[in-house]
Amino acid sequence: PALEMQAEIKARGGLIVPAHVFTPHKGIYGSTAPRMGEVLDTSLVDAVELGLSSDSSMASYIRELDHVPFLTNSDAHSLGKIGREYNELQVAAPSFDEFRMALQGEAGRSIAANYGLNPRLGKYHRTYCAACGSIMDEQAMSAERCPHCGSLKLVQGVLDRILAISDRESPHVPANRPAYHYQVPLEFIPGLGKAKLRQLLDHFGTEMNVLHRTREEELAAVVGPVLAGLIVAARKGQLELSSGGGGTYGKVAVQEKASE
Ligand SMILES: [Zn+2]
Repeated sequence: PALEMQAEIKARGGLIVPAHVFTPHKGIYGSTAPRMGEVLDTSLVDAVELGLSSDSSMASYIRELDHVPFLTNSDAHSLGKIGREYNELQVAAPSFDEFRMALQGEAGRSIAANYGLNPRLGKYHRTYCAACGSIMDEQAMSAERCPHCGSLKLVQGVLDRILAISDRESPHVPANRPAYHYQVPLEFIPGLGKAKLRQLLDHFGTEMNVLHRTREEELAAVVGPVLAGLIVAARKGQLELSSGGGGTYGKVAVQEKASE
Protein backbone atom coordinates (compact mmCIF):
# COMPACT_ATOMS: atom_id res chain seq x y z
CA PRO A 1 0.00 0.00 0.00
CA ALA A 2 1.18 3.51 -0.85
CA LEU A 3 1.13 4.77 2.74
CA GLU A 4 3.25 1.84 3.95
CA MET A 5 5.66 2.38 1.10
CA GLN A 6 5.96 6.06 1.99
CA ALA A 7 6.74 5.18 5.63
CA GLU A 8 9.33 2.64 4.51
CA ILE A 9 11.03 5.11 2.15
CA LYS A 10 11.17 7.81 4.82
CA ALA A 11 12.51 5.37 7.43
CA ARG A 12 15.41 4.69 5.08
CA GLY A 13 16.15 8.37 4.49
CA GLY A 14 14.67 8.45 1.00
CA LEU A 15 12.88 11.14 -0.97
CA ILE A 16 9.43 10.71 -2.49
CA VAL A 17 8.75 12.34 -5.86
CA PRO A 18 5.73 11.04 -7.81
CA ALA A 19 6.64 11.18 -11.51
CA HIS A 20 4.72 12.58 -14.52
CA VAL A 21 1.83 13.14 -12.16
CA PHE A 22 -0.80 14.18 -14.72
CA THR A 23 -0.31 11.61 -17.48
CA PRO A 24 -3.29 9.35 -18.21
CA HIS A 25 -1.21 6.19 -17.78
CA LYS A 26 -0.35 5.69 -14.10
CA GLY A 27 0.01 9.37 -13.20
CA ILE A 28 -1.17 9.97 -9.65
CA TYR A 29 -3.55 12.74 -10.77
CA GLY A 30 -3.88 11.44 -14.31
CA SER A 31 -5.30 8.03 -13.48
CA THR A 32 -5.47 7.56 -9.70
CA ALA A 33 -7.25 10.36 -7.85
CA PRO A 34 -8.24 14.02 -8.22
CA ARG A 35 -6.27 14.83 -5.04
CA MET A 36 -2.91 13.40 -4.10
CA GLY A 37 -4.03 13.61 -0.46
CA GLU A 38 -6.55 10.81 -1.11
CA VAL A 39 -3.81 8.24 -1.72
CA LEU A 40 -0.60 9.63 -0.22
CA ASP A 41 0.46 11.41 2.95
CA THR A 42 1.27 14.71 1.22
CA SER A 43 3.42 15.84 4.16
CA LEU A 44 5.85 13.09 3.12
CA VAL A 45 5.96 14.07 -0.57
CA ASP A 46 9.19 15.96 -1.30
CA ALA A 47 8.31 17.15 -4.81
CA VAL A 48 6.25 16.16 -7.83
CA GLU A 49 7.58 15.70 -11.35
CA LEU A 50 5.43 17.44 -13.93
CA GLY A 51 5.98 15.30 -17.03
CA LEU A 52 6.38 16.44 -20.62
CA SER A 53 2.80 17.60 -21.12
CA SER A 54 2.44 20.14 -18.29
CA ASP A 55 4.28 23.06 -16.72
CA SER A 56 4.29 25.06 -13.46
CA SER A 57 1.42 27.24 -14.56
CA MET A 58 -0.87 24.33 -15.45
CA ALA A 59 -0.05 22.53 -12.19
CA SER A 60 -0.99 25.70 -10.27
CA TYR A 61 -4.67 25.01 -10.87
CA ILE A 62 -4.48 22.65 -7.90
CA ARG A 63 -4.24 24.16 -4.42
CA GLU A 64 -2.69 21.20 -2.63
CA LEU A 65 0.41 21.64 -4.84
CA ASP A 66 1.07 25.23 -3.73
CA HIS A 67 3.75 24.15 -1.26
CA VAL A 68 5.12 21.19 -3.19
CA PRO A 69 8.32 21.75 -5.22
CA PHE A 70 8.09 20.99 -8.96
CA LEU A 71 10.71 18.98 -10.82
CA THR A 72 11.00 18.50 -14.58
CA ASN A 73 12.77 15.33 -15.65
CA SER A 74 12.80 13.15 -18.71
CA ASP A 75 12.36 9.40 -18.45
CA ALA A 76 15.44 7.52 -19.53
CA HIS A 77 13.71 5.42 -22.19
CA SER A 78 16.55 6.01 -24.62
CA LEU A 79 20.01 7.51 -24.42
CA GLY A 80 19.22 10.40 -26.75
CA LYS A 81 16.25 11.53 -24.67
CA ILE A 82 17.99 11.61 -21.29
CA GLY A 83 18.11 15.22 -20.17
CA ARG A 84 15.58 16.65 -22.61
CA GLU A 85 13.93 18.00 -19.46
CA TYR A 86 15.98 18.93 -16.41
CA ASN A 87 16.31 21.20 -13.39
CA GLU A 88 18.88 23.81 -12.54
CA LEU A 89 19.79 23.35 -8.88
CA GLN A 90 21.61 25.70 -6.52
CA VAL A 91 23.80 23.26 -4.57
CA ALA A 92 27.29 23.14 -3.07
CA ALA A 93 28.03 19.73 -4.58
CA PRO A 94 26.17 17.18 -6.73
CA SER A 95 25.22 14.85 -3.86
CA PHE A 96 22.03 13.26 -2.55
CA ASP A 97 22.13 15.38 0.62
CA GLU A 98 22.50 18.59 -1.35
CA PHE A 99 19.65 17.50 -3.65
CA ARG A 100 17.46 16.95 -0.60
CA MET A 101 18.41 20.39 0.72
CA ALA A 102 17.56 21.96 -2.64
CA LEU A 103 14.10 20.38 -2.59
CA GLN A 104 13.53 21.60 0.94
CA GLY A 105 15.01 25.05 0.29
CA GLU A 106 17.52 24.67 3.10
CA ALA A 107 20.58 26.90 3.69
CA GLY A 108 20.43 28.73 0.37
CA ARG A 109 20.00 25.56 -1.70
CA SER A 110 17.15 25.66 -4.17
CA ILE A 111 15.64 24.59 -7.44
CA ALA A 112 16.80 27.57 -9.50
CA ALA A 113 14.88 26.82 -12.72
CA ASN A 114 12.94 24.17 -14.60
CA TYR A 115 13.68 23.38 -18.23
CA GLY A 116 11.02 21.45 -20.07
CA LEU A 117 9.28 20.76 -23.31
CA ASN A 118 6.64 23.23 -24.31
CA PRO A 119 3.71 21.23 -22.87
CA ARG A 120 1.84 21.35 -26.19
CA LEU A 121 4.53 19.09 -27.61
CA GLY A 122 4.06 16.48 -24.90
CA LYS A 123 2.57 13.11 -25.82
CA TYR A 124 -0.49 13.47 -23.60
CA HIS A 125 -1.23 17.21 -23.66
CA ARG A 126 -4.76 17.01 -25.11
CA THR A 127 -7.49 14.41 -25.24
CA TYR A 128 -7.15 11.80 -27.99
CA CYS A 129 -9.75 9.56 -29.62
CA ALA A 130 -8.46 6.00 -30.02
CA ALA A 131 -11.23 5.24 -32.53
CA CYS A 132 -10.68 7.96 -35.14
CA GLY A 133 -7.24 9.27 -34.13
CA SER A 134 -8.34 12.88 -33.55
CA ILE A 135 -6.47 15.06 -31.07
CA MET A 136 -8.85 17.62 -29.53
CA ASP A 137 -6.76 20.73 -29.82
CA GLU A 138 -9.51 23.31 -29.34
CA GLN A 139 -11.47 24.28 -26.25
CA ALA A 140 -11.46 22.32 -23.00
CA MET A 141 -12.72 18.81 -23.69
CA SER A 142 -15.13 17.71 -21.03
CA ALA A 143 -17.40 15.66 -23.31
CA GLU A 144 -17.42 11.90 -22.83
CA ARG A 145 -17.77 11.21 -26.54
CA CYS A 146 -15.50 12.14 -29.40
CA PRO A 147 -17.04 15.19 -31.14
CA HIS A 148 -15.83 13.80 -34.49
CA CYS A 149 -16.94 10.15 -34.45
CA GLY A 150 -18.97 9.75 -31.24
CA SER A 151 -16.68 7.07 -29.82
CA LEU A 152 -16.22 6.67 -26.06
CA LYS A 153 -12.62 5.54 -26.47
CA LEU A 154 -11.01 8.78 -25.33
CA VAL A 155 -7.59 9.10 -23.70
CA GLN A 156 -7.87 12.19 -21.54
CA GLY A 157 -5.21 14.81 -22.11
CA VAL A 158 -3.15 16.31 -19.30
CA LEU A 159 -4.57 19.81 -19.81
CA ASP A 160 -8.11 18.45 -19.96
CA ARG A 161 -7.53 16.37 -16.82
CA ILE A 162 -6.12 19.35 -14.92
CA LEU A 163 -9.09 21.52 -15.89
CA ALA A 164 -11.47 18.74 -14.83
CA ILE A 165 -9.94 18.37 -11.35
CA SER A 166 -8.84 21.98 -10.73
CA ASP A 167 -10.05 23.78 -7.63
CA ARG A 168 -9.33 27.27 -9.00
CA GLU A 169 -10.77 29.35 -11.82
CA SER A 170 -7.31 30.27 -13.05
CA PRO A 171 -3.81 29.10 -12.16
CA HIS A 172 -2.13 30.82 -9.25
CA VAL A 173 1.66 30.48 -9.43
CA PRO A 174 3.26 31.26 -6.05
CA ALA A 175 5.90 34.02 -6.29
CA ASN A 176 8.68 31.71 -5.14
CA ARG A 177 8.28 29.18 -7.97
CA PRO A 178 11.41 28.95 -10.12
CA ALA A 179 11.24 30.15 -13.73
CA TYR A 180 10.07 27.53 -16.22
CA HIS A 181 11.99 27.64 -19.49
CA TYR A 182 10.41 25.99 -22.52
CA GLN A 183 12.48 24.19 -25.05
CA VAL A 184 11.76 22.60 -28.40
CA PRO A 185 14.19 19.70 -28.94
CA LEU A 186 16.03 19.77 -32.25
CA GLU A 187 14.30 16.58 -33.43
CA PHE A 188 11.03 18.57 -33.51
CA ILE A 189 12.39 21.20 -35.91
CA PRO A 190 10.96 20.52 -39.40
CA GLY A 191 13.68 19.80 -41.94
CA LEU A 192 16.36 19.14 -39.35
CA GLY A 193 17.42 15.54 -39.98
CA LYS A 194 20.10 13.32 -38.46
CA ALA A 195 22.96 14.67 -40.61
CA LYS A 196 22.29 18.31 -39.73
CA LEU A 197 21.79 17.42 -36.08
CA ARG A 198 25.21 15.73 -36.10
CA GLN A 199 26.79 18.84 -37.67
CA LEU A 200 25.25 21.09 -35.01
CA LEU A 201 26.50 18.84 -32.20
CA ASP A 202 29.97 18.66 -33.75
CA HIS A 203 30.16 22.46 -33.86
CA PHE A 204 28.48 23.47 -30.63
CA GLY A 205 28.98 20.48 -28.35
CA THR A 206 25.54 19.95 -26.82
CA GLU A 207 21.93 20.30 -27.84
CA MET A 208 21.39 22.79 -25.00
CA ASN A 209 24.14 25.04 -26.39
CA VAL A 210 22.33 24.98 -29.73
CA LEU A 211 18.88 25.56 -28.22
CA HIS A 212 19.72 28.27 -25.70
CA ARG A 213 23.13 29.84 -26.22
CA THR A 214 24.42 29.88 -29.81
CA ARG A 215 23.84 33.05 -31.84
CA GLU A 216 21.67 32.86 -34.97
CA GLU A 217 24.56 33.78 -37.32
CA GLU A 218 26.70 30.98 -35.93
CA LEU A 219 23.85 28.49 -36.35
CA ALA A 220 23.21 29.74 -39.89
CA ALA A 221 26.85 29.19 -40.84
CA VAL A 222 26.39 25.47 -40.11
CA VAL A 223 22.79 24.63 -41.10
CA GLY A 224 21.70 27.61 -43.19
CA PRO A 225 19.43 30.56 -42.42
CA VAL A 226 16.07 28.74 -42.54
CA LEU A 227 16.85 26.17 -39.86
CA ALA A 228 18.78 28.75 -37.82
CA GLY A 229 15.68 30.96 -37.94
CA LEU A 230 13.46 28.12 -36.72
CA ILE A 231 15.80 27.29 -33.82
CA VAL A 232 15.84 30.94 -32.72
CA ALA A 233 12.07 31.26 -33.15
CA ALA A 234 11.67 28.20 -30.91
CA ARG A 235 13.91 29.87 -28.33
CA LYS A 236 11.69 32.95 -28.33
CA GLY A 237 8.48 30.92 -28.13
CA GLN A 238 7.42 32.09 -31.59
CA LEU A 239 6.83 28.75 -33.30
CA GLU A 240 3.31 27.65 -34.00
CA LEU A 241 2.71 24.30 -32.30
CA SER A 242 -0.03 21.72 -32.61
CA SER A 243 -0.77 19.71 -29.49
CA GLY A 244 0.17 16.12 -28.80
CA GLY A 245 -2.22 13.51 -27.41
CA GLY A 246 -2.78 9.77 -26.91
CA GLY A 247 0.94 8.96 -27.02
CA THR A 248 1.80 11.05 -30.09
CA TYR A 249 4.04 14.08 -29.66
CA GLY A 250 2.88 17.55 -30.68
CA LYS A 251 4.36 19.11 -33.79
CA VAL A 252 5.92 22.33 -34.96
CA ALA A 253 3.66 23.72 -37.68
CA VAL A 254 5.66 24.53 -40.80
CA GLN A 255 5.26 28.22 -41.43
CA GLU A 256 4.99 29.76 -44.90
CA LYS A 257 7.83 32.18 -44.20
CA ALA A 258 10.24 29.49 -43.02
CA SER A 259 9.64 27.17 -45.95
CA GLU A 260 10.12 29.76 -48.70
ZN1 LIG B 1 -13.20 9.98 -32.70
